[in-house]
Amino acid sequence: MPMIASVTRHDWTPAEVLALFKLPFNDLLFQAQSVHRQYFDPNRVQVSTLLSIKTGACPEDCKYCPQSGHYNTGLDKEKLMEVEKVLQAAADAKAIGSTRFCMGAAWKHPSAKDMPYVLKMVEGVKALGLETCMTLGKLTQEQTEALAQAGLDYYNHNLDTSPEFYGNIITTRTYSERLQTLAYVRDAGMKICSGGILGMGESLEDRAGLLIQLANLPEHPESVPINMLVKVKGTPLAEEEDVDPFDFIRMLAVARIMMPESHVRLSAGREQMNEQMQALAFLAGANSIFYGEKLLTTGNPQADKDMRLFERLGIQPEAREEHADEVHQAAIEQALIEQRDSKLFYSAV
Ligand code: SF4
Repeated sequence: MPMIASVTRHDWTPAEVLALFKLPFNDLLFQAQSVHRQYFDPNRVQVSTLLSIKTGACPEDCKYCPQSGHYNTGLDKEKLMEVEKVLQAAADAKAIGSTRFCMGAAWKHPSAKDMPYVLKMVEGVKALGLETCMTLGKLTQEQTEALAQAGLDYYNHNLDTSPEFYGNIITTRTYSERLQTLAYVRDAGMKICSGGILGMGESLEDRAGLLIQLANLPEHPESVPINMLVKVKGTPLAEEEDVDPFDFIRMLAVARIMMPESHVRLSAGREQMNEQMQALAFLAGANSIFYGEKLLTTGNPQADKDMRLFERLGIQPEAREEHADEVHQAAIEQALIEQRDSKLFYSAV
């Protein structure tokens, strides 16, 4: 198979995308890795830390989510975390090499009462020299603009699945509301983090449909998280069948080919993946991970385990673009090595 010259496109058709999914596995991975090398250093992976700033009792009914107030998952409900605690967590994350700090709140949308605190968090994390990312649910145009002004770099709002399958998973928020929030985020000049989940009972056509929605946006999301369903007891999807690991890798590879300039993030579900599967994920073009003890409310592999895997694969963490000089990179790597055997992380709860 010849090396593919990749172009960034916004006109993907279902037939083309399904044809990619149906390629022999080795051909698909070769194509994805070839595209990846045209845009990225294949041995760098971006590292983010995720903190839940408000956990549980969400009014939405997302069937995969232990934070939904519609299901009894035994999760403690919390109020919005204090700004000082969030900033301490961000400082800790920076000290062990994270370049982006993502803050998630289980809300339908932020309330007027909570917005001033949220804005203070963005300003404070930004002042620490970290990239900032938030996921707060649906936004109004005014809220989006306020977040952008406070210095928010990324807004995460996942499409989750195809428009056709979406109604099987969520009934309390429409697909078009999600697209509207993404449009506000773009208009306000922020970067978009948006992806979806595999393993909810969706078909191959739905997986293709999700990627088409993302890739055919006027601009590709800068970050595309691909999650494996974490089956949590008490949620309606707790008994879903496992995804074939090779099908998950295929999803990453097709996402890489369709959105060649985006960071494809190996996201929730990484704890269930063995090291060989994670290595295959990087080969398929995944180049971003969450790093730390908590991925919102579900477990995440220990940070030192991640660092050992990086070392074994010759992968290095990606520095922030504006600090991508050798000195800064060396400092990050040193901090990671020095601290990997100590207690690294705050607790998000
Ligand atoms: S995924 Fe987000 S919006 Fe849906 S129930 Fe969970 S916290 Fe709420």
